[in-house]
Amino acid sequence: MPPDPFFAGEGLDRADHLRAKPEQIGALHRDPDARQLVWENGAPAVDEWGRLRWQDVEGAPPVLLGLNGGAPRFSTLPDGSAPNTAYAHFQLLSLLDATEAPIFAAALSLANWHRRHGFCSVCGQMTEPNRGGWSRICSSCGSEHYPRVDPVVIMLAEHDGQLLLGRQPQYPPGRYSALAGFVEPGESIEAAVARELKEEAGIDVRNVRYICSQPWPFPNSLMIGAWAEAIGDSLIIDTNELDDARWFSREEVIAALQGEATAPFQPPPRTAIARTLLDAWVDGLK
Ligand SMILES: [Zn+2]
Repeated sequence: MPPDPFFAGEGLDRADHLRAKPEQIGALHRDPDARQLVWENGAPAVDEWGRLRWQDVEGAPPVLLGLNGGAPRFSTLPDGSAPNTAYAHFQLLSLLDATEAPIFAAALSLANWHRRHGFCSVCGQMTEPNRGGWSRICSSCGSEHYPRVDPVVIMLAEHDGQLLLGRQPQYPPGRYSALAGFVEPGESIEAAVARELKEEAGIDVRNVRYICSQPWPFPNSLMIGAWAEAIGDSLIIDTNELDDARWFSREEVIAALQGEATAPFQPPPRTAIARTLLDAWVDGLK
């Protein structure tokens, strides 16, 4: 079984065949089983059991999230005044049910994109939601703009049975996690993994392997989890990016994942793909 990160999974039937048919979307708005997502503090609202909150449809919400067993699920586009980072929503994320997380990720990531694309990148005029909220169209030049997803590589580098993990300045005290960085234009996943590890930790790697991926709606990323074999273990840490980076033994990683008091670091939370990668590594990922 491949690892199963939080936010990854099936979610709703996205019903792409309905998006370009405004009259059918209008009929879905009037469907008695239709619901629209409730938003709170800039994120989809979650009840005390970790389930997403839904309400009756009001008017014509612009985003058709998809179908749930045939029942339409819509979303509005809340204003972007609330902070949108995983830290800002920490309590919400710690409560969120894993089976609801893919819908949460789709709704929030799409809303983030809409908030930032009110104007046409071709001519500078205003754009409007189109295709059930899965694109925006320019009212002046007619250009159609599609939601963007930004690929990020996040990787475990291994040398002689030890794993390289690092600390970013904004991490809570004691936390170490996998190094990560955005894929640049004209770059493969493998090249991005090798470049980021060289830039941030000064190591050369080979045998880069894809492990699993995760949508990450803060604001629009796709986290691409990978493993790489480090050729040496001497580090040159980029202190602009990292507070620290070091090698941890298998026993140390296991102690951290088990939450032992003597563990040398705090692992990332269950919502982070880095946690999934660490869990998979101690289970024998090579
Ligand atoms: Zn335009």
